Amino acid sequence: MARHVVVVGGGNAALCAAISACESGARVTLLERAPFDLRGGNTRFTAGAMRAVYEGVGDLVRLMPDLTQSEIERTDFSSYSAADFFDDIGRVTQYRCDPTLADRLVNDSFETLRWMQSHGVRFLPLYGRQSFNVDGRVRFWGGLTIETWGGGAGLVDALTAGARRAGVSLRYGVRAVRLAMQSGRIAGIHGRCDGRDEFIEADAVVLAAGGFEANPAWRARYLGPGWDLARVRGTRFNTGDGIQMAIDVGAAVRGHWSGCHAVGWDANAPEFGDLDVGDGFQKHSYPFGIMVNSRGQRFVDEGADFRNYTYAKYGREILAQPGQIAWQIFDAKVTHLLRDEYRIRQVTRVTGDSIAALAAKLDGIDAGALSNTVAEFNGAVDQSTPFDPTRKDGRAASALAPPKSNWANPLDTPPFEAYAVTCGITFTFGGLHVDANARVISEEGEPISGLYGAGELVGGLFYFNYPGGTGLTSGAVFGRLAGRGAATET
Ligand SMILES: Cc1cc2nc3c(=O)[nH]c(=O)nc-3n(C[C@H](O)[C@H](O)[C@H](O)COP(=O)(O)OP(=O)(O)OC[C@H]3O[C@@H](n4cnc5c(N)ncnc54)[C@H](O)[C@@H]3O)c2cc1C
Repeated sequence: MARHVVVVGGGNAALCAAISACESGARVTLLERAPFDLRGGNTRFTAGAMRAVYEGVGDLVRLMPDLTQSEIERTDFSSYSAADFFDDIGRVTQYRCDPTLADRLVNDSFETLRWMQSHGVRFLPLYGRQSFNVDGRVRFWGGLTIETWGGGAGLVDALTAGARRAGVSLRYGVRAVRLAMQSGRIAGIHGRCDGRDEFIEADAVVLAAGGFEANPAWRARYLGPGWDLARVRGTRFNTGDGIQMAIDVGAAVRGHWSGCHAVGWDANAPEFGDLDVGDGFQKHSYPFGIMVNSRGQRFVDEGADFRNYTYAKYGREILAQPGQIAWQIFDAKVTHLLRDEYRIRQVTRVTGDSIAALAAKLDGIDAGALSNTVAEFNGAVDQSTPFDPTRKDGRAASALAPPKSNWANPLDTPPFEAYAVTCGITFTFGGLHVDANARVISEEGEPISGLYGAGELVGGLFYFNYPGGTGLTSGAVFGRLAGRGAATET
């Protein structure tokens, strides 16, 4: 008889695991805690950006057969090698990431996207956020070139349809609460649905229930004081259940438990993500302006690197400012470069014809200090180096503390715009110890029979920072492996 695999979660990692387990011959039940309307976890809030290795336009054409000849001709897609991807993960995690997991993630990335494609996921070039027009040619930068059709919502819909086609039984509004073990093996899982407890027998369980970013008590406990005050960018349902259930049966934990991905997020965004706005509350164009706190002072190098490599750690810096608030300030020379999220209806924007007029409208800011900061900044910009948003241009304001290392422009052209931001947490980095086949490892260092983990709840991959677009790829790679392992384990 076919093995019964229960998958816990309803996002990208869970859906990939469920499809893969079915494909490998198992009978599969997926338990999603959220009701149907709120299904899809953080995955549904994403833009669907996915980082993967590609050797050139030929690979992209295989992944995106809809690319037209004229698109190919007018675009410089460049390439993104396994070595590039591996280096990026190593560098941004300060070389703490588990090399075995990183290796698997990098080397399986392209082939896993092809596999997703075979289950109905469609991919497009990520024109809007990762490319610039240079002399009539579209040039991609930063190694992140691929997005899913319809963003995160499109990805959840495509994978859900794929799971149904594969024969997965999808159940919504079921919260998994406890694993059952027998003779050292997984024997089933306890769940709660409509106020009733139930027990589901299983030969194997894949945990893909997200991190603990939506649990303010765990945030304060593990990330540190103040983190209970962060806004949650995505789902309210990722409260650490999957991690806790595994720990309760002896799983080892791993990774950067005091670390997380957190970004600049509209200061007036709600406590949890809003599916109608998606990731529109993020504010990621700070490399083209300056960021100041309520004392009117800069506090990060806004141009340290491409935003891909800084945005995930700057949320923490904003949380550390008085009142957990900051303002991003731009002048008219660069507002055409601002990303689409600066033009949503729900944006907290203030404008002024001078810095003094702008400062007078910013609630609680030290206006005099802000004017001094801008004057000092303007005087420090090296204007002999040309501004080029498509590469690290070295146009710096290096004499300042902190410096601005690239894309520095004097703020001298009205109207000026300021955007109020706070810290929005995306996902947590600490999680379960899994091996390169997504098997959950016990505190004794052995795989726990029948237990697998994938997605955000895996620890050991990300430390301090994260290369944008890696979360979905990680969930897909390890979800697929987890499903296959759960279906075929002997
Ligand atoms: C606003 C935003 C934008 C992002 N943009 C990107 C991007 O463009 N590219 C990228 O790679 N990453 C992005 N990320 C990160 C990305 O969302 C995650 O890395 C990825 O979606 C995690 O997938 P997952 O399946 O592990 O978790 P999720 O998609 O969060 O799924 C976890 C699921 O578990 C369910 N669950 C929780 N507890 C239980 C329980 N007890 N029982 C049953 N089910 C349970 C939840 O309801 C949820 O459906 C973004 C995140 C956010 C919030």
